[in-house]
Amino acid sequence: MVANVTKKLRPLLRSLGCARAGNPCTNARYSSSIARTWSTPLAKSLVETITTTGPISIASFMRQCLTSTDGGYYTTNASEHRDQFGKSGDFITSPEISQIFGELVGIWLVTEWMAQGRKTEGVTLIELGPGRGTLMNDVLRTIRNFKPMAASIEAIYLVEASPVLRETQRKLLCGSSPLEDHPKGYQSKSKHLPGVPIIWIEDLTFKPEEKLSTPFIIAHEFFDALPIHAFQSTQQAQTQPLTGTESRGITTSVSAPPPPRASTPSRPKNEWRELVVSPTPPASVISPPKTPGPEFELTLSRAPTPYSRLLPTISPRYANLLPNTGSTIEICPSARTVASTIAELIGGVSTAPHTARVGLKTPTPKLPRQPSGAALIVDYGPASTVPISTLRGIRSHRICSPLSEPGLVDLSADVDFSALAEAALGASEGVEVHGPVEQAHWLQEMGGTERCDILVQKARAGGGGPKDVEAEEMAERLVSGWRRLVDRTPNGMGKLYKVMSVVPVSGGVRRPVGFGGGVAE
Ligand code: SAH
Repeated sequence: MVANVTKKLRPLLRSLGCARAGNPCTNARYSSSIARTWSTPLAKSLVETITTTGPISIASFMRQCLTSTDGGYYTTNASEHRDQFGKSGDFITSPEISQIFGELVGIWLVTEWMAQGRKTEGVTLIELGPGRGTLMNDVLRTIRNFKPMAASIEAIYLVEASPVLRETQRKLLCGSSPLEDHPKGYQSKSKHLPGVPIIWIEDLTFKPEEKLSTPFIIAHEFFDALPIHAFQSTQQAQTQPLTGTESRGITTSVSAPPPPRASTPSRPKNEWRELVVSPTPPASVISPPKTPGPEFELTLSRAPTPYSRLLPTISPRYANLLPNTGSTIEICPSARTVASTIAELIGGVSTAPHTARVGLKTPTPKLPRQPSGAALIVDYGPASTVPISTLRGIRSHRICSPLSEPGLVDLSADVDFSALAEAALGASEGVEVHGPVEQAHWLQEMGGTERCDILVQKARAGGGGPKDVEAEEMAERLVSGWRRLVDRTPNGMGKLYKVMSVVPVSGGVRRPVGFGGGVAE
């Protein structure tokens, strides 16, 4: 199957041209009202909030740390001229490592466009969290080689919270076209697809114009940045929190004591309690051995919160874990909302309860409109299990405490792919979900090895003979970048990252390329 797909993809891979140009890539402490000093102004304002309201959910903490206009990691840090991406930043992503990644995403979109009848109009491209714009740039470079598809594209939407990254994206994708106001945000013009507007929207509940009926959506390393809630299964009578160093016995805003234990001799029932964030008590910061710990800590809320009552009930997957006292689950309601929106954009809004349609042959339901478009979601996280304790901080390419230096540390959590699939299938009867599959598998099935060979040959052919050092270095960079993307060792990107697609329902008859399907004639 793979060989066959690769053979059919070969003409597409050859037509893409050559290697792209290389990518360009405080100690101050702030006092608070309670006479302590804090690492960042955001830390100080978080403490002030918590002092007023009581401990906050991890989701509130994450949202503030990443996208607060008052010092958020994506929304403010970059404006201090610190690029988060690349060697000198905090992390590097697949499109930044190799152009092959974006090219294969572009080819995948072309194969979906072909499989869905080669629409001549009404096609929209949408990217969630475009970072520096590198992925969309490579996707557009690729698609412009397929003229009929390029001509069908009426608009490109970018969902981006950061004004600074929006400007970086505009420069790369629009060149000298200025940023202008648009009813839904801002707009400029694509330099790759002349005349096609690029529209920036900040809000996750993006809704392109009604007439744009075929949305092709990509989300690479977007879902891992969305705020999670975490819950621990606790015996109902238990009042004291957590295990180990995470618990310092801070009381929460939810101060009502838990209900008295029933007088029956049977085992107490378990309930979910939320993990919440509060400042670390002063002693542990002021008189630590030498290295101060994080300024914030997680504690278990002493009573159920509205979130702990509601969120774990939305899927039977969580209920199965409740009897295991101490088990922790992470739930990302924003991710579910975005997955639902994606499904509705492709498949239309559901009119009746869904049945699981993951690759199963089921009768095609009656739909309000013909489903159309596709989504490709690439991120890290378990293929089927519920993520537990995966919230992490990343700074300068190192894992660090997510509870330290708010606004300076990138925060992320594993993506729950099953939850995304569940939300998408629940939102629209017009879609089915394929994957997740490991990134290495998907990239190879898309013909990446062959594309890498073509690029290496072109780089060498473009050089001044076998002794051309620059051409040889370029060839080596291409090979090492590609190998990194498909590294299947336990911590390799090829294994950790997963790829999932949402496509129009076919009752399991048609599988997308990269997920076991072939290229449509
Ligand atoms: N897809 C890019 C960048 C990943 S970093 C790549 O692979 O290189 C995450 C991106 O999502 C950034 O562009 C960040 O600004 C954006 N982002 C994070 N949270 C967001 C939110 N809540 N709403 C919109 N964009 C968000």
